[in-house]
Amino acid sequence: MGAVHTLLKPVIDFALPPRCPICGITVDLDHHFCLTCWRSLDFLGEPFCHGCGVPFAYERPADWLCATCLAHPPEHDGVRAVVRYDDISSLIAMRLKYGSRLGLANLIAKNLERFAKDICERTLIIPVPLHRWRLWTRGFNQSVLIGRALSKSLDVPMSLDAVLRSKATPPLRSMSSKKRQKTVGNAFVLSAHSKALISGRPILLIDDIYTSGATTNACAKLLKRAGASQVLVFCWARVLNDGEAA
Ligand SMILES: [Zn+2]
Ligand SMILES: [Zn+2]
Repeated sequence: MGAVHTLLKPVIDFALPPRCPICGITVDLDHHFCLTCWRSLDFLGEPFCHGCGVPFAYERPADWLCATCLAHPPEHDGVRAVVRYDDISSLIAMRLKYGSRLGLANLIAKNLERFAKDICERTLIIPVPLHRWRLWTRGFNQSVLIGRALSKSLDVPMSLDAVLRSKATPPLRSMSSKKRQKTVGNAFVLSAHSKALISGRPILLIDDIYTSGATTNACAKLLKRAGASQVLVFCWARVLNDGEAA
């Protein structure tokens, strides 16, 4: 199989030159955007809030929290998002979700690697689970696709059944923050074996889009209760409300 793969690879490369996942023009390398699309994405980086990852306009100490996190400290230990959620980054998320473009998961994982400086061999990747009905209609969980690609590139294990979704939840977008918390608060459970798996380990919790944080916070709460030493949220895009971004 390995030999066949090696033999076929140059032919496949010749037949399918890598393309920019946004506009489709040919690019030099796999899993890369073209320069125009790369410039139009709003990449997020330091300085940002230690709690929720919201970017700051100017330098602050590394453990600085924004006003929202000071008032309501999140259960997790930080959010690392590749880009701001906007028309272009949402296109990538939509294609990952509905277009079966699995190569996008590799591209997202590649872009998340810059946040993974401190991961250790005990780190465990856990994707935010989908309810089995949604999994059944879609066929896959987009967070698992990102998690799997990241697990491969960082060489750390992933667990698909440590956290389970016990309840299908309606879209949270139009709900107040209290209602969101209530809706997803009891939507997740830990599987029977997960405590032994999670206890004392740092966790990378993977989601495609970080919106209000209610979903990831509910998962982080369970993971912390099971003894996780740290829960960092890794996602492709983060929603920033007007005035939140630098
Ligand atoms: Zn492009
Ligand atoms: Zn914050």
